[in-house]
Amino acid sequence: MTDLPGATGAVLTIDLAALADNWRTLAARVAPAQCAAVVKANAYGLGVERAGPALWAAGARTFFVALVEEAARLREVLPEAVIYVLGGLLPGNGEVLLACDARPVLGSRAEIEDWADFCAARGADLPAAIHVDTGMNRLGLTVEEAQALGQRGAGFTPSLVMTHLACADTPGHPLTALQRERFSRAAAAFPGVAASLANSAGCFLGPDYHFDLTRPGIALYGGAAVAGTAPLKPVVRLEVPVIQVRHGLPGDTVGYGAAQRLGRDSRIAILSFGYADGFLRAFGASDGLPGADAIIAGRRCPLVGRVSMDLTAVDVTDLPEDAVARGDMAVILGEGILVDELAAHGGTIGYEVLTSLGRRYRRVYKGG
Ligand SMILES: *Cc1c(COP(=O)(O)O)cnc(C)c1O
Repeated sequence: MTDLPGATGAVLTIDLAALADNWRTLAARVAPAQCAAVVKANAYGLGVERAGPALWAAGARTFFVALVEEAARLREVLPEAVIYVLGGLLPGNGEVLLACDARPVLGSRAEIEDWADFCAARGADLPAAIHVDTGMNRLGLTVEEAQALGQRGAGFTPSLVMTHLACADTPGHPLTALQRERFSRAAAAFPGVAASLANSAGCFLGPDYHFDLTRPGIALYGGAAVAGTAPLKPVVRLEVPVIQVRHGLPGDTVGYGAAQRLGRDSRIAILSFGYADGFLRAFGASDGLPGADAIIAGRRCPLVGRVSMDLTAVDVTDLPEDAVARGDMAVILGEGILVDELAAHGGTIGYEVLTSLGRRYRRVYKGG
């Protein structure tokens, strides 16, 4: 929809200066460890073509994506970056990785054998990361497999050994220290190879958790690294237009399912966006269960009723009569509404709010 700017009238503003500041803040915090940037899923929904170069300009040199397609896209805008593909090596993906000079993060013995075979067939000793599982049970070699690999040699160049924390956003979770200890044992089998453990939350656990390279994602984009703590600078602002202001009577219901009944004479502003724009249906309200807020004319106003596909209703009764009119903008993210606050209304996390941000918004990049 980018060829139809403003089709919904909604505007998503992405502050690249704040993004760069957040990276510098984290880089300073983890020094002398290096700080990479995780830009998977289109830079958490914000647009990797703009976020990638902004992070590079701030000083990031190593980037992590999830998919080989994401690596190819990133390579187009960052010719010199080191790019790792967290999803690893799929059968037949070697050529594509090579073409965009990306390094797979190898997370199983099968992938490691495939990469060694691929390197042998090319007669090239290509770099790759080794992923060690220390408690997530998602991707990665066991500690013992990693130790054995380190001793016998891989048949290619391990350029990074890494693991991923499962519970770093829960302060004091016992698994975190256990993962660190397991990872230290695995990494010791790869002397001279850079080690990486910390995601955003890990950056806040202190130097014992930083190793050589940290891998923050969410904190760069204005999400809270640790649940319940203040995030770095907010990066996104979302404004959507009011397309109608209407009157409702006590006893009337609003929206699908008649889920919320009005208790008073009400004025309802109808916003031109909904769950098709990634504004989750779970953010809506019903009787006895408040939903998210929108800021209109500088004041917080509660959602009323369910979120529809393209429309969302807000109770503006408490605003002065002339404070809101058709064509005005309502702030959904920004002016103090953080991604984590919005996420909490839907029983989800900031990551999901960001990666769900709609494709129909007109995207404005500032500070780049
Ligand atoms: C997504 C991801 C990160 C970044 O995590 P945040 O919590 O967003 O900082 C780091 N490492 C791996 C392996 C990941 O998948």
